[in-house]
Amino acid sequence: MSSILILGGGFGGVVAAEKLAASLGSSHQITLVAPNQKFTFYPALVQLAFGKIQPEDIQFDLDEKLREIGVRYVQGEMIRIHPVRRKVEISGDDFSGEIAYDYLVIAVGRRLATEKVPGFFENAQHLLGVNAALKFGILADQFREGRILVGLCPDARLPVPVCETAFALAKKFEAEMEQGKIQVSVIFPESLEAAFGGARLHKELEAAFKRHRISVHYEVPIREITFNQVNSSEGHEIKCDLLMLVPPFRGNSALRNLNVTDESDFVRVDGMLRVHELDRTYAIGDIVAFSGPKLAHMAVRQAEVAAANIVSEINGEAPTKEYYHEIAAVIDANGPDSIYLHYGIWDDTLYRLKKGRFWSWAKEAHDALWRTKHQH
Ligand SMILES: Cc1cc2nc3c(=O)[nH]c(=O)nc-3n(C[C@H](O)[C@H](O)[C@H](O)COP(=O)(O)OP(=O)(O)OC[C@H]3O[C@@H](n4cnc5c(N)ncnc54)[C@H](O)[C@@H]3O)c2cc1C
Repeated sequence: MSSILILGGGFGGVVAAEKLAASLGSSHQITLVAPNQKFTFYPALVQLAFGKIQPEDIQFDLDEKLREIGVRYVQGEMIRIHPVRRKVEISGDDFSGEIAYDYLVIAVGRRLATEKVPGFFENAQHLLGVNAALKFGILADQFREGRILVGLCPDARLPVPVCETAFALAKKFEAEMEQGKIQVSVIFPESLEAAFGGARLHKELEAAFKRHRISVHYEVPIREITFNQVNSSEGHEIKCDLLMLVPPFRGNSALRNLNVTDESDFVRVDGMLRVHELDRTYAIGDIVAFSGPKLAHMAVRQAEVAAANIVSEINGEAPTKEYYHEIAAVIDANGPDSIYLHYGIWDDTLYRLKKGRFWSWAKEAHDALWRTKHQH
């Protein structure tokens, strides 16, 4: 009997647990450790901010869900991995100590490095959590006049909710924007292509921004934020009255001592998602040092690849399943300007770029389906 330890209860961790449990049944022990007992469906946070859904619609209890599939949940946080002894030091409310493993899956996600941008904490909003999204929603409700700025900080690897927030604001304030009372602007630290891992969607996205009276600015690498102003390292000084930014992303500094991380603390893996130089250890999801945006569907596909390779190893076979890095994302513009993008980041292959109201409905339906599947 093998013990498989999964660190993290987000998209990557939960799907890895599901796949492993389905393949291995009760003949092996699977444990998932995460500090927060609630799973949050992040892609729906923009809808939450704009009052389309409630917090209980996008969260479920990990303990309950994992127990149903025979996976043990431990509330706690990975403090340190000891690869030679194959043990992980965990600190939690109910359990503090070491958990041994035969196979390890690192799925701890990214850290929001707000400290990298002076003034972020005091002067900017984000919506990368339930409370933050609700707070931004309240501020948007109270907003009456002026400029709303949404954007990505340098090293923020999440362009989809930036675009979706701008479209949601444009819908909310359609009349005020037409009267010139409210302006909505979007800023990117580099080009639009760079934000989307090289995908060329600027023609479609820019046309959609224009139709919704949203102005867009590229090559604005935010350096600091002061009261009602964003300053870039290229000399821009942009005034604003409400600011929603995705902060810089970093990996996990607790993994630094293992010599497996890049300069931003993301974990280096090979094509089969094995962590370089660590035996029987895989990393998946936002914590992995891959280029381009960091998206849930990537974490899910990586979880499937890692689970399949662990099952092969347990069965005494060499792992063979390779991961291919691609974007498949819907940018919901609340109607006919919604975009579906399918693009191969590693080989610059555009599979599909489609536009239409259907993709807005499809995203809502997909989100609802995923939430229903995991809540019941
Ligand atoms: C507002 C918003 C909108 C988004 N929209 C989209 C979209 O439209 N499409 C899309 O594909 N993606 C979207 N994403 C991105 C997507 O949510 C992430 O890529 C995805 O959540 C990554 O999954 P993950 O499992 O790697 O990390 P996470 O989901 O972040 O989960 C990490 C887990 O690790 C746990 N953890 C952290 N530290 C430790 C530790 N030390 N020890 C143990 N556990 C730890 C956390 O508590 C959590 O359970 C969006 C994200 C946000 C925030």
